[in-house]
Amino acid sequence: MEMTIQPILPRPIKRPVIIAGPCSAETEVQVMETARQLKKAGQEIDFFRSGIWKPRTRPNSFEGVGKEGLQWLKKVKAEFGFKTCTEVANTAHVFHALKSDVDLLWLGARTTVNPFSVQEIADALEGVDKPILIKNPINPDLGLWIGAIERIYKAGLTRIGVIHRGFSSHGETKFRNIPRWQIAIELKRRFPDLMMICDNSHICGRRDLLAEIAQQAMDLNYDGIMTETHCTPDEAWSDAAQQITPDVFKKLVDGLVIREEQSQDQVFNENIGGLRKQIDELDEEIINLLGNRMELADAIGAYKKRNNISILQSSRFNEIVEQAVVQGANRGLSQGFITTLLHAIHQESINHQKEVYQQTK
Ligand code: PEP
Ligand code: MN
Repeated sequence: MEMTIQPILPRPIKRPVIIAGPCSAETEVQVMETARQLKKAGQEIDFFRSGIWKPRTRPNSFEGVGKEGLQWLKKVKAEFGFKTCTEVANTAHVFHALKSDVDLLWLGARTTVNPFSVQEIADALEGVDKPILIKNPINPDLGLWIGAIERIYKAGLTRIGVIHRGFSSHGETKFRNIPRWQIAIELKRRFPDLMMICDNSHICGRRDLLAEIAQQAMDLNYDGIMTETHCTPDEAWSDAAQQITPDVFKKLVDGLVIREEQSQDQVFNENIGGLRKQIDELDEEIINLLGNRMELADAIGAYKKRNNISILQSSRFNEIVEQAVVQGANRGLSQGFITTLLHAIHQESINHQKEVYQQTK
């Protein structure tokens, strides 16, 4: 679907866009104190976040204070001048958030995953002019993420951005939600005008990794970060392990190296141009080599068919992968990359040979 997407903030936009505030609004004191500390730290923020309705995995966890908390966001705006944002997951949430003049709404990961919920929210937002951010679905499904963007867009909203908060997985992992950067990068490639925010808090799940992930996002040219900040993080009613104080957050932001997407420097551009030309030539060579390899696969296929031998010999493929992993390691190529590459090549060879086997003569 063709979409004309606008930024979530008026231009010119200073990178990184900053969204900070507690995971959940717990009490009026906690919300106001967190905002006050952000202000005092001198941290410029574009939106103050706070969850009012919390999608918790298990019942009996703190599920948010509900619409009462919207009054506290109003107070934050009035006292500190911060624009505010919160998560909406159904029609009632949208109704109350709009009534309380929340400046930006976001769809949580558990909402994006469900087209019924997304459509319900899109219907509730029909004709409303608000910026909206759409988190990735909990499962690594780019189609579902795009589908949610399209549903919101079809309701007439154009100021749409996305939040990359990582993907669920089973078992022990370094991250609470594995980033799988390539999914977000592919989304940005297809829709370059979508502003991309990194929710380092929900990717990391723990404080010590937050700065590293925020920097990675900046290196990948993300537009901003959403980071959970709390006046007393250890006492937070939700997501305590990943929240940081406004002072720590300020240091994190100050430590970020912000890189430009393009340079105006002629010498730099010429040098990069030369290197890219070499890359293009190598890519061309790789594709030619792959073409040659498939021609050989066709010839082998024809020969095996004449001798009534099956297409697949697993032991032969395992040997190829083992050899290539060793060779790749000598050239600084990871085992994962070599294995994925060879599986793709092998699959293509099999497809070619299948065609040979299906030919009647
Ligand atoms: C949140 O931002 O507090 C939240 C619930 O996030 P997610 O939807 O990414 O789990
Ligand atoms: Mn949270």
